[in-house]
Amino acid sequence: MTDKIGLMLDALIHYDVDYNLGRAGWQGVRCPVEWAHVNADQNPSARLNLTLGLIKCLGCELNGDAYSLVMAVDNVTFLEAKEKLGNPESIQESDWLI
Ligand SMILES: [Zn+2]
Repeated sequence: MTDKIGLMLDALIHYDVDYNLGRAGWQGVRCPVEWAHVNADQNPSARLNLTLGLIKCLGCELNGDAYSLVMAVDNVTFLEAKEKLGNPESIQESDWLI
């Protein structure tokens, strides 16, 4: 498991997103960016890929890795997201920009 995948799992657990750990490829999940969806995201609009550590939403701007997820949900900067996730020092910001 790479750091990217581990960070994504941490973020998903933190935001209480239901996902299927054994599912390869893309799977539908409820978008955790609640402020971007009226009455929350009742029908799963987000697509999660645990092989790549990526998530994107068809209904809002969410698109990227664990940092993008934290930035979107909590409306914070990259550095703040990095702090929240307890980012390993080995990972540079450029690795996460998409
Ligand atoms: Zn969304």
